[in-house]
Amino acid sequence: MSLLSIVLPSYNEEQNIAHTTEVLSELLEREGIDYELIFVSDGSTDGTFQEILKANKKNPRVKGAQFSRNFGKEAGIFAGLEMSLGDAVIVMDCDLQHPPSAIPEMWKKWQEGYEVVEGIKNDRGKESLGYKVSAGLFYKIMSALIKMDMNASSDFKLLDRKVVNVLLTLPERNTFFRALSFWAGFDKTTVSYEVQERQFGTSKWSFFSLMKYAVTNATSFSTLPLQLVTMMGIVSILFSVILAVQTLVKYLSGTAVEGFTTVILLVLIIGGFLMLSLGIIGHYIARIYEEVKGRPKYIISKVTDNVQGEIIGNWRKKQ
Ligand code: UDP
Ligand code: MG
Repeated sequence: MSLLSIVLPSYNEEQNIAHTTEVLSELLEREGIDYELIFVSDGSTDGTFQEILKANKKNPRVKGAQFSRNFGKEAGIFAGLEMSLGDAVIVMDCDLQHPPSAIPEMWKKWQEGYEVVEGIKNDRGKESLGYKVSAGLFYKIMSALIKMDMNASSDFKLLDRKVVNVLLTLPERNTFFRALSFWAGFDKTTVSYEVQERQFGTSKWSFFSLMKYAVTNATSFSTLPLQLVTMMGIVSILFSVILAVQTLVKYLSGTAVEGFTTVILLVLIIGGFLMLSLGIIGHYIARIYEEVKGRPKYIISKVTDNVQGEIIGNWRKKQ
């Protein structure tokens, strides 16, 4: 019988663990699907890991890990994939905003032979205006840079073991799960779902954390901003050629004036472009710097008893 692993990154979700475990195990048992639930507490500072331990005592199909600090949802997803044993793995939020009712449908598609089943949002559910605007901007930027429609896609996905193994062998530290599962290829299909309302706790994203996420992902998944620097250079050169001709004509015809306005404008425009370009290049250098340091994506400090392996980042490689 095939095993389904469900990976649930959780950051300060003590109110959600028990409830989510109950809802999922009830559903999967009813559907007759062999399963394991993997909660990855992303350096939670509340009782999330204690709740995971409690859930594991009640149901041995629950396992989990605690990170030594907050490493971000991406790291949580990858740790969960690393810990999973299933023939298929579903990644979903542990606040049940990704409706469990879509799981049987995803599972069926997988049994039909699909290797990636994407969850596609019907709408973004009830969210504050500020959040909608920043998330909207985020997806616009991302879609343009990665050249795929990101607005409807989410981290709610089912992946076949083959795809999981491909993702786990990628050496990069700055990952973007949502886009990587596109990038990997394989036979894809989609399942649409309605985003549910969060029952307990609050969203863990702020405007700034979303913007940071956008910039990090854009620079780790696209080199378009670097090409933008070249474009800006070309525009400035064209501009300066026109101005040079004008200046020379004026000089030769003996009507050259002080031209302070031009000088000030030129200094400002070129200075602005230069600094912007340096900033963009700086972002890439920062990414390269992080990659060459070769630090693990995450550090695991505690695991439940039913998880084997060494307790540190990328532990499977050290087993
Ligand atoms: N999450 C995480 N680490 C973080 C932030 C969030 O593991 O640093 C988890 C969180 O516990 C939840 C999921 O990622 O299971 C989605 O987060 P949230 O519900 O706050 O985001 P939203 O639904 O508002 O996009
Ligand atoms: Mg949520």
